[in-house]
Amino acid sequence: MTPDIYADIILPLPFPKLFTYHIPPDLNPYPERGTRVVVPFGKKKQYSGIVFSIHNKKPKEYETKPVLSVLDNSPVVTPKQIDFWEWIAEYYQCTLGEVYKAALPSGLKLESETRVYYNPDYEQTGELPEKAIKLLSFLSEKKVCSVAEINDFLNQKNSLNLLQTLIDESAVFVTERLKDRYRPKTENHLRLNEKCRNEKSLHEAFNSIEKAPRQTELLMKLIHLTGGAGNAMKGKSVSRKALLKENPGAASPLNELIKKGILEQFPLQTERLDRSQEQIQQKKTFSLAQAKAFEEIEKAFDDHTVVLFHGVTSSGKTELYIHLIEKHLKKGEQVLYLLPEIALTTQITTRLKRHFGNRLGIYHSKFSSEERVEVYRDLLEDKNYQIILGVRSSIFLPFKNLGLIIVDEEHEHSFKQFDPAPRYHARDAGIMLAHKHGAKVLLGTATPSIESYYNAQRGKYGLVELHTRYEDIQMPRILVADLKEARRKKQMKSHFTPVLFEHIEKALTDKKQVILFQNRRGFSPFLECSVCSWVPRCKFCDVSMTYHKKMNQLVCHYCGHTVTTPQTCQACGSPALSTQGFGTEKIEEEVKLLFPEARVSRMDLDTTRSKKSYQTIISDFETGSVDILIGTQMVTKGLDFNNVSVVGILNADNMLNMPDFRAFERGFQMMAQVSGRAGRKNKRGTVVLQTSSPEHPIIKYVVDNDYDAMYRSQLAERRTYKYPPYFRLIYLVLKHKQKNTLDNAATALAARLRTILGDRVLGPQEPPVARIQNKYLTRIMLKYEKGHSPSYIKKIVNDAIDAILSDHQWKYISVYADVDPL
Ligand code: ADP
Ligand code: ZN
Ligand code: ZN
Repeated sequence: MTPDIYADIILPLPFPKLFTYHIPPDLNPYPERGTRVVVPFGKKKQYSGIVFSIHNKKPKEYETKPVLSVLDNSPVVTPKQIDFWEWIAEYYQCTLGEVYKAALPSGLKLESETRVYYNPDYEQTGELPEKAIKLLSFLSEKKVCSVAEINDFLNQKNSLNLLQTLIDESAVFVTERLKDRYRPKTENHLRLNEKCRNEKSLHEAFNSIEKAPRQTELLMKLIHLTGGAGNAMKGKSVSRKALLKENPGAASPLNELIKKGILEQFPLQTERLDRSQEQIQQKKTFSLAQAKAFEEIEKAFDDHTVVLFHGVTSSGKTELYIHLIEKHLKKGEQVLYLLPEIALTTQITTRLKRHFGNRLGIYHSKFSSEERVEVYRDLLEDKNYQIILGVRSSIFLPFKNLGLIIVDEEHEHSFKQFDPAPRYHARDAGIMLAHKHGAKVLLGTATPSIESYYNAQRGKYGLVELHTRYEDIQMPRILVADLKEARRKKQMKSHFTPVLFEHIEKALTDKKQVILFQNRRGFSPFLECSVCSWVPRCKFCDVSMTYHKKMNQLVCHYCGHTVTTPQTCQACGSPALSTQGFGTEKIEEEVKLLFPEARVSRMDLDTTRSKKSYQTIISDFETGSVDILIGTQMVTKGLDFNNVSVVGILNADNMLNMPDFRAFERGFQMMAQVSGRAGRKNKRGTVVLQTSSPEHPIIKYVVDNDYDAMYRSQLAERRTYKYPPYFRLIYLVLKHKQKNTLDNAATALAARLRTILGDRVLGPQEPPVARIQNKYLTRIMLKYEKGHSPSYIKKIVNDAIDAILSDHQWKYISVYADVDPL
């Protein structure tokens, strides 16, 4: 008898262990490591999972279920990727299932979907909550629908509790059905029907519609578009869209032709991805300084995997990347170009396309799931793409032969995924990925993170510096405007000091452009009652809600909960609600009042919901149809505009006052970056920096453009207070509905950890926002010396968490680790 064969499967679930299934002998095609299989899970569910391993060890703890089917003839996840997944799961303390969820575009993951059926024989006996009755009447009409539709109908995120009530009542029943989320894109095409594809019958067809001039015209047009009767009779087709574009409003004669059997309509599979070819341009010739930096980078790669390229804003880093990419492509290697933010991809895409044309693929979340599947498949099948430009999730693409990773704006925090797991840092994980491929990594930035600069100073990374702007344009002049003084002297025009106001005015007269930066979106951070100081807060989170004027709504920026703006104070009834502080929306409104002639546009999360919106805002500014661009941190990074003479930082203080040990570093980076948007071509630019604390050391470093001084001052603090780069950090975040239970569990967990790790354990302490979506949060911080092995520490942590969660009273506490938190 042949031994039974088993497969360990990665499922998109947060269980630490993989599940084992048996492989029925007649399964076809035969699964291998990295292929997708469909397996049953629990009572009714089915998932598509990834084969992790195949073996003949029967699990002792449970009876195995069979693998139901195999979805691929060859692996969709390469062995290198699985290796990489394992590293991510281990380093960032999460499960392989969580990595799988993040790594594959959703179009490649099938999951059974719950369908809810109405029971027509149901008769109500007991009492039902009002909401349940409302839902029942909806269901009795629909007969069957998905959970998502129910959530939509009830306008809530999760309706499982309510649904369970109805299931218990036998008012509805549910089943599971596997849902394939990837649909190839098809387009309706038209061609001559088979029977008309010879001269005689085509002639007859024309005769038969002699009295219908529009049909005749349409048929002739089709023949013309296929390139002549010869082609049409060979069955060549044209798209319905193209045909109707030439004959607007001809849908009904077209349908007549189809009905008469003269034309045939059929769906043709097409690609979503834009493969339009741009004119390929020669790369630019380097300036002397650039040429020198390029040489140094190449040399540094001789003995380093990672090189930090510290080049001031507008020094021409992107041009250097282009040369470097070309070099690697010539060797037949692939290149990954990582960017922190979608807003940036627009400009860089244009620049890279000019050089690399269709070899460039783009990957980010504003692409539809289908488009992402097509990029993924393209790489898997080694088709077109040799360079991928993408945001953090592109480290999960199936590279075969990666030679170089460029991490542009390496200091940016958005490279770290905050929620959900895996809470990975794309720069750091990218370095690991490069090791697995034997590839090089170039970290580029004008304001290196303290960690990277420290690594470079100690020789762990190579270091190349470029301190002059391209064409030796001077770094912008930075004027500090004292907000306190201007307020005292009553010189403020709304949120503008006289200095900033005058500079904007002058720029507009000179036909120059202005960028205004405010690190907050919305109209104002909160509303406040002027009588009793009541502030509207989110029902589910421990934060005040942000006022959005245009929508006339209060929005929670943590959970998205929205309410209509109240007219009166909910505490004392007074109508005296006033806005406090200001966000980008308010600045926009004020700028429009103060500079009525100026054309104004705004770029923040609220104005960039779609893929196109970034492009529109950026190209309007590029082409000069907008004079003043207002934005959040989105406008600070990487953008390259020719005609900006003034940058205004409306309030530097709220950046520096964040309760975080990185606040100063981050404040410096943001201010230096946004300043870098000024005066990139032709003439020196000006930055007006408004602050209430002009004496603040960080403000001085920004004015002097003195990265080194900022670095040294911060490094000293990090050493004193035991922070990175000298120490490693892990946050353990605990969540639960009840505060008491949560606090007890957290205290117990901290105590247990302290028995081994001593004073490396801090807390538990409430994080700045201590309740999110109706769950309380608390946090334990671990700080440990660089010398300790991370895997040893993580084992201690995991054991302690297991011990706590196995205590019955704390079973429902959720705990996650945030490794190297930002
Ligand atoms: P950075 O990425 O360092 O901010 P960029 O690469 O965007 O700088 O360069 C700034 C500007 O100078 C861009 O408009 C770029 O096209 C131009 N530039 C840089 N290097 C060259 C070069 N060698 N020849 C011509 N133009 C260049
Ligand atoms: Zn009040
Ligand atoms: Zn909320």
